Amino acid sequence: MIHASLKQLAQALAEKRISAVELSQLYLDRIAQLNPGLNAYITTDPQRTLAQARAADARLAAGTAGPLTGIPLAHKDIFCTAGWLTTCASKMLANFVSPYDAHVVEKLNAAGMVTLGKCNMDEFAMGSSNETSHFGPVKNPWDTRCVPGGSSGGSAAAVAARLAPIATGTDTGGSIRQPAALCNLTGIKPTYGVVSRYGMIAFASSLDQAGPMGRSAEDCALLLNGMAGFDARDSTSLERPAEDYTRSLAQPLAGLRIGLPQEFFAEGMDDGVRVAIEAALAEYRKLGATTVEINLPNTQLSVPAYYVLAPAEASSNLSRFDGVRYGHRAAEYSDLNDMYAKTRAEGFGAEVKRRILIGTYVLSHGYYDAYYLQAQKIRRLIARDFEEAFKHCDLIAGPTTPGVAFPFGAKSQDPVQMYLSDIYTISTNLAGLPGMSLPCGFSETADKALPVGLQLIGNYFDEARMLNAAHQYQQVTDWHSRIPGDMQ
Ligand code: GLN
Repeated sequence: MIHASLKQLAQALAEKRISAVELSQLYLDRIAQLNPGLNAYITTDPQRTLAQARAADARLAAGTAGPLTGIPLAHKDIFCTAGWLTTCASKMLANFVSPYDAHVVEKLNAAGMVTLGKCNMDEFAMGSSNETSHFGPVKNPWDTRCVPGGSSGGSAAAVAARLAPIATGTDTGGSIRQPAALCNLTGIKPTYGVVSRYGMIAFASSLDQAGPMGRSAEDCALLLNGMAGFDARDSTSLERPAEDYTRSLAQPLAGLRIGLPQEFFAEGMDDGVRVAIEAALAEYRKLGATTVEINLPNTQLSVPAYYVLAPAEASSNLSRFDGVRYGHRAAEYSDLNDMYAKTRAEGFGAEVKRRILIGTYVLSHGYYDAYYLQAQKIRRLIARDFEEAFKHCDLIAGPTTPGVAFPFGAKSQDPVQMYLSDIYTISTNLAGLPGMSLPCGFSETADKALPVGLQLIGNYFDEARMLNAAHQYQQVTDWHSRIPGDMQ
């Protein structure tokens, strides 16, 4: 059962081969057994989980179940969940119990899904390795000496180790796609505005977007159906008719034009990654797609522009954590200013402080024009690069990350090296485009084979086509169904 797809689970539940309570219990037992070694979950609450499962069983019995009813899932701990701790992996929110649900959580609860717990992540979603969590690093189930990627590393490790059938994640610069790549998962960051950000703790509001992280494109399409939709409480939520993201899965790929950005295939990519990507592209040609070379000339500027814009927005968003209304407050202080200063000094970790300092600096009088405005202009140029590229292709393909999962500590002392993990993913967020990662092979290292992710980038609102391309590939390859040796 722990290897079943969402569709198979829904069928098993409908046919009463298993109850929602039995299914969640199966996962809760596995979490109890394996999570201490992986640290993928920050919080579990079996009472709450089982109560939700019982409610799902009632709906299944009453014949009012939908396609997601009774299916367990894990939420990244950035989503507010009523009654549960919502920590964002920060000491600042280590004691925060949300009084309300995020829009995404509310929707998935209403669909009858069962929350298994809250997943570990980089603190406030800042990082690419899950090493910045206040609750300790998450281990990659493929090699526990290595990082699972970040910031949605807990969600990725949970699904890879079969501690959840599927999970939610968020992606500001690559945080769904990069951990999906490093843990052999399929994950999609939708077009900006497709999924509501209400109740999703804000990092960089103009870039943040939630999406599913699962074991196949089909599973992701099903969860995205449950997550997407207009929400008046998010001013950037898009008012569009509801879509069925599974609708094109079965479509053949003949005639699909795949653009290969020359800048993505230049130097910087590890050999093991390159070999797997080339093989995946050959498979796509066999499926009837054609590949064309395209250019995204401003790719090199995406990381520098992001590290001005994202910290600028973060410095503003994180000003709300002042010790007054919720979260951590310093125990001793002399006056109000001292309380703010001590609370924030104690509550935030080093990477979060770094971002707040950078963000405050680039927004300050005298530097705003030189940094923030310049970065906004680059952002526009990057969006234009994609606009031009999509005149020549339907989808863009390339690596998700330059390398595979790296050992703990390998990049944590060198922020720039860490930031470069997202060199292929960040431009998508800057442009607001949808992007996804899917398993496409393994890179053999001395003593282990580690997963490689293929990235697909689509034009605005082309999620269904991307999921179609991923699904067709997953019909003829089995990379996505491989599981870590010790997790069978
Ligand atoms: N790794 C990037 C950062 O540290 C992206 C994080 C994200 O997408 N949340 O900002």
